[in-house]
Amino acid sequence: MTKWEAVIGLEVHVELKTNTKIFCNCSTEFGGDPNTHVCPVCLGLPGTLPVLNKKVVEYAVKAGLALNCEIASYSKFDRKNYYYPDLPKNYQVSQFDLPIAKGGYLDIEVGGETKRIGIHHMHMEEDAGKLVHQGTIMASPYTLVDYNRGGMPLVEIVSEPDMRSAEEARAYVEKLRSVIQYTGVSDCKMQEGSLRCDANVSVRPVGTTKLGTKTEIKNMNSFKALQRAVEYEIERQIEVLEDGGKIVQETRTWDEAKGITISMRSKEEAQDYRYFPDPDLVPVVIDEQWVKELRDGLPELPDSRKARYVEQYSLPAYDASVLTAIKEMSDFFEEVLDYFPQPKVVSNWIMGDLSGLLNANQQELTDSPITAKQFAELLKLIDQGTISGKIAKTVLEEMVATGKEPATIVKEKGLVQISDEGELTKIIEEIIANNPKSVEDYRNGKTAAIGFLVGQTMKATKGKANPGLVNKLLKEKLQ
Ligand SMILES: [Zn+2]
Repeated sequence: MTKWEAVIGLEVHVELKTNTKIFCNCSTEFGGDPNTHVCPVCLGLPGTLPVLNKKVVEYAVKAGLALNCEIASYSKFDRKNYYYPDLPKNYQVSQFDLPIAKGGYLDIEVGGETKRIGIHHMHMEEDAGKLVHQGTIMASPYTLVDYNRGGMPLVEIVSEPDMRSAEEARAYVEKLRSVIQYTGVSDCKMQEGSLRCDANVSVRPVGTTKLGTKTEIKNMNSFKALQRAVEYEIERQIEVLEDGGKIVQETRTWDEAKGITISMRSKEEAQDYRYFPDPDLVPVVIDEQWVKELRDGLPELPDSRKARYVEQYSLPAYDASVLTAIKEMSDFFEEVLDYFPQPKVVSNWIMGDLSGLLNANQQELTDSPITAKQFAELLKLIDQGTISGKIAKTVLEEMVATGKEPATIVKEKGLVQISDEGELTKIIEEIIANNPKSVEDYRNGKTAAIGFLVGQTMKATKGKANPGLVNKLLKEKLQ
């Protein structure tokens, strides 16, 4: 039986976080009333002239540098012609044969192995407007057009077809998002469409080099959807080929509810865009000195931060990867260390309980009221033996919910750990008296039985007993 290999390439659109659009002064703010962020230029009215926003070029160069690309000293804008109601000019201003950046790469990690994914090029372009339907596109009696998004600055990052699994595709987009977020040129929110991704997928027999016929999948709006869509499409293509069928080159859409990809249009119907240079826009000439300045101004990027964490803080590579994936998380970690310099302890609490709580509340670190200083205070309370690790989880929950100081919460709720030997001895004597079976088991050599007695003691003290002390006292009493 033939063994198949998937070949995946990704096209990722990233919206740049400039204040104004790419060719006019309209606001780029998300969520305005329909058609309130528009002007004659971005509506493409006759007689208007676009003027390139320098900030867009600056951000594109930064993104290109962060993706290890070569920045073109000379690039130009082209018109990509197509007729569709989301585009009143009937062409999209984009870059065709001379993009701003070329030949980069991203290193991804899958299954503990690092793999380098090539980036073919990155170009700048304007976004189109958005069509709004009542209910589904098929059932809607009309189509409304919102041009607020028209003219928003985008970069499109086109990878080489270097990915071999859905997992690698997901790792690539996650890494891409992380790197771009570090540069500060985009917030890369998939839900708000500031990061959008299309996947080109084909399969071929393992050992061959010729590319199979590919399909393009659109409409994946989360990392999970991307992975599922690519997985599904690989399976589908293998099945078609094993049944003796042929793959048709086409665009497919991901149906999240059904968990399948559906054909949208075949290649035959696809447009020939008839690109030609935009006569209204002068070529983009970039000074080497400016590129150097922008390169020098880039922040420390996730890979180098990760390496530093392993080196400087002796953290496991896994911890370092998780902590540096999101810049805010990584910054928070370093700030906590300023107050509580025990890297592994801080890392455990951030990756474990704090991340768990934020995920459960569907919160980002930046949405929560907790400060690095407060978080460090909490860890100090555990370190000093004032509260147990178990109680600390309760305190942390309250901190994330209210933003109160940990010491205040401990005081208000009477959560101070019981470390008084006399007080604990009394409780332990009672536990021993009430659980003769476990005591007997322990004395007969079933040492694990002590776990039950520790648990009972913790329960009796509502988790406030100092666990180390409980263990010690119990062992003494059971001798
Ligand atoms: Zn405008």
